[in-house]
This record gives sequence, structure tokens and C-alpha cells, in this order.
Amino acid sequence: MFTAATSPWIPPRPTPEILKVDPALVPEYMTWFVNRRAYTRQSNTPNPDNQRYYYYQPKERLTKKRLALDASTVRKHLSGLQTIGLYAINPETQRSKWVAIDADYQRAHRDLAALKLELKEDGVEAALEMSRRGAHLWILCEEPLPANDCRTYIYNLALRLGVPIKGTLNQLDGIEIFPRQDELREGEFGNAIRGPLGVHRANMHRYWFEDAAPDLKSQFAYLRRVRRLTAEELSTFIEGLSIPEEFQSRPKIEQPAVPFESGRGFQILDHVQVKRKASNNWWTQCPSCAKQGHDRSGDNLAISVGDPRFYKCWAGCTKEMIRDALGVPIRQR
Ligand SMILES: [Zn+2]
Repeated sequence: MFTAATSPWIPPRPTPEILKVDPALVPEYMTWFVNRRAYTRQSNTPNPDNQRYYYYQPKERLTKKRLALDASTVRKHLSGLQTIGLYAINPETQRSKWVAIDADYQRAHRDLAALKLELKEDGVEAALEMSRRGAHLWILCEEPLPANDCRTYIYNLALRLGVPIKGTLNQLDGIEIFPRQDELREGEFGNAIRGPLGVHRANMHRYWFEDAAPDLKSQFAYLRRVRRLTAEELSTFIEGLSIPEEFQSRPKIEQPAVPFESGRGFQILDHVQVKRKASNNWWTQCPSCAKQGHDRSGDNLAISVGDPRFYKCWAGCTKEMIRDALGVPIRQR
């Protein structure tokens, strides 16, 4: 029975408008936007700690294998049933089919308008898609172009205009350029951005490109017309340019939490800061090698991602040597 004490009023969740999607649109969308089959999906429910709608890599329930993006998932994204995030870089080629500039701060619209105009001066047509707190500016490429060259171009354009770039020169607010990395290392995915025309799960609102009518048919017709950036143009634009060192940033890898199930014994992750993740291992400097003045590149120690109780120095240090170097020697029994 209803009582005020046991049934607090919960505001109804907004529901998205579900659109009918012509299946013929799906392969076109994939040709334009999908660089690799790995993808992310936006959660339908907020994280209880901070109410944010995170993107996660969907996995098969039983095998825990990462799902590969297929036509039916893209169709669900376009219809509004689910929302996917797309990675910018194909790891085999280090190239991307697009460049996206994400801005969600106070002056975002002004800065994106300035960038769009400056791109137009170069003959590059950029498509502006609204987002929840700002907008995404998309440049489509005629063929996949090197991530590094795309970034060099946009970085220098932003510098010229005085548009702030997030994470550089202590800028907390600023644009983010996808691809976020110049290249991917083995096992890396880089950063994903919401696939165009998707519904944001927080407010269930669909964001459209501003230069076309708000329906799928018109949006696709517009995207077909948008002029593509060519390899030749890009190489002309970046001739003699590079990304200044103070602007070169790789998004930091967060220190993984020690899983609960691994118990309360010695945990190497309590003692070392991981540097990168590849091939199902965390990699960092081996404490024992470091003590002997070795492992300058800082990647001799591999720690299993699945079970961080397992770790190994590829230069051959024993577990005893590593524990000694950390000041927590293995007790002799
Ligand atoms: Zn070592």
C-alpha cells in the first residue's frame, strides 16, 4: 500500500523519441563514421555516486568478450533505442575517417563558430552537431587520414585563433580534439565520442546537425553533401607545422583499483604507479631494475589486469628482488 514514508516520489525518467530507421542508411553511416569495430555504449542509468551517464565497452554476458559493432547496433543507435560511442583511430592504420572537436564550456559556441569559419577559409566544410552542454564540430575525410596530421592541423588552427585546448597550459576549459592521441599503442583504444545523431541518455534528447532539418532523411542528405577533407589538402595545411611540445598530452591512465576478491595480502598496485595498459597487462618501471639504475624506459614490469596478484619483470628480476626493492620483502617461512 502507498505510504509517503516508504514510497518517495521519483521523477519519471524521460523517454527518447524512437525513430524508424531505413536499414539502407546504416552502411552509409558506418562508412562515414566507424573506424574500428570496438565501441562503447552509454549507460541507461546514472552512476549513483555522481549521476553521470558513463560510456562502457559492452561485453558478451557469458564469455566476457568485447562485442564488435554491427549494423543492428548502429540501427538501434540511430533509432534512439541505445547510444554508442565511436573510437577515432583504427589501430592498424593509425588513421581516422573524421576529426571531431568537442566543446562544452561557457564560450563553447563562440569558439566553435570561430573554428568553423577559419576552417571554411581553408575550404574545409565542418558540420556542427549540438550536444548536451555545447556542440561537436565534425570534419569528414575523403579517406582515412593519419591521426597525427589531423591533430596537428586542428591544434595549430586553435592556437592561431586563441581557442583554448583542454588539458594544455593548465586549461581546465577548452576544446577536445578527437582523435585524442597521435597514435595508439598496442592494446589501446583511445577515446570515444558519442556517435552522431545519437540520443543522450541523461535527458533522452537527440542532437542534430544544425545545417539540416531535424529528421534522419534530411540529416543523411546533408551528410552526403558535406565536402570531404582530402589527403592532399591536409598535407598542404600542415606543411612545416607540428604540435608544440607543451601541447602534447596523452590522457593519463588512471591507477587501477585493487579488486576486492584478490584479498588483503600484498598488492603490487599499492606500491607502483602504472604507466600504460597493453595486452591485458599494466606496464610500469620494475622497482628492482630501477634500484640498479636500469629500466629507464619504465616498462619492464607487467602486472596482470585480470588478477594483479600476478606480476613479472621481463628483465628477469625475481619476485624476491622486486619485493626487496619495494621494502616489503617476502617473509621466509
Ligand atoms: Zn626488473
